[in-house]
Amino acid sequence: MMRAALLKQVKQPLEICEIRIPIPNAEQVQIKVNACAVCRTDLHIVDGELNQPKAELIPGHQIVGHVTECGSNVQDLKVGDRVGVSWLGFNCGTCEYCLADQENLCDHAKFTGYSLDGGFTEYTLAFARHCYKLPDGYPDFQAAPLLCAGAVGFRAYKKIANAKKLGIYGFGSAAHILTQLAVFQNKQIYAFTSPGDINAQQFALKLGACWAGDSMQTPPELLDAAIIFAPVGSLIPQALAATRKGGIVVCGGIHMSEIPAFNYDLLWGERILCSVANLKHEDGVEFLELAPQVPVQTQVIKYDLSHINQALDDLRNGRVNGAIVVAI
Ligand SMILES: [Zn+2]
Ligand SMILES: [Zn+2]
Repeated sequence: MMRAALLKQVKQPLEICEIRIPIPNAEQVQIKVNACAVCRTDLHIVDGELNQPKAELIPGHQIVGHVTECGSNVQDLKVGDRVGVSWLGFNCGTCEYCLADQENLCDHAKFTGYSLDGGFTEYTLAFARHCYKLPDGYPDFQAAPLLCAGAVGFRAYKKIANAKKLGIYGFGSAAHILTQLAVFQNKQIYAFTSPGDINAQQFALKLGACWAGDSMQTPPELLDAAIIFAPVGSLIPQALAATRKGGIVVCGGIHMSEIPAFNYDLLWGERILCSVANLKHEDGVEFLELAPQVPVQTQVIKYDLSHINQALDDLRNGRVNGAIVVAI
């Protein structure tokens, strides 16, 4: 038996329960979880904003642990290997998106900690194909936030590769990682936080942002591009207004509140507005190779599994700078 944090009903606290240790199928590995970082997507699931979680779900999709058992068809991993697991937990390989090398859009995708059980538990399962080898220099706790905040953030970052002046709206876990990468690549970061969140603004400046301010503020110069991580639809017209002609605004989160109507002038001038959905395995592989070169240093705040609801609440209320990681 093992301890696991279960989502029995949305909008209710997770319940720590004793359940059976899961057995891998032929394509899966069983992982003893050491650390699992908390993502804003976990909040959207627990709060019922993403409406198709599996029953009795174990959330958590930034998992670091060791392989304890391999399914009969698993060839690239062995017992004892340290692995990471991210949000995309399964893709079918046969739908039109998978065949077009867009596995992140797979019609039959399954997601860790949403349609598959995740990492807020002692043991979990993962499809071997979707496991990551982790860079040696990162202890388990520091590695965990690289798996979604880092890897999905990096997918958004790749869309703005040519931007010099980059705005980031919402300065949480993904932003604190991407800022380090962007500064390393000689980009100028303009950090937009919740109004009055001086802590987050100082944190951004400390990480190398050239400017930090409230999300409703106009930056001192027009941006080449912006990434929005905060789940706030009204930031889209804000970000478009702050972006120059031909610029791009990328929505990096899985959920947003309703977007208010805005004047076409904000989009006119060949500005591009797009979303980033999930990630491809190769996004994670690329990012995990790049992170040690910067080197990206994740600032983590640890919580014990028994305090998982406090961890979720602190993220919801913006009480932490950096990434929350649950110790298992
Ligand atoms: Zn597919
Ligand atoms: Zn995530």
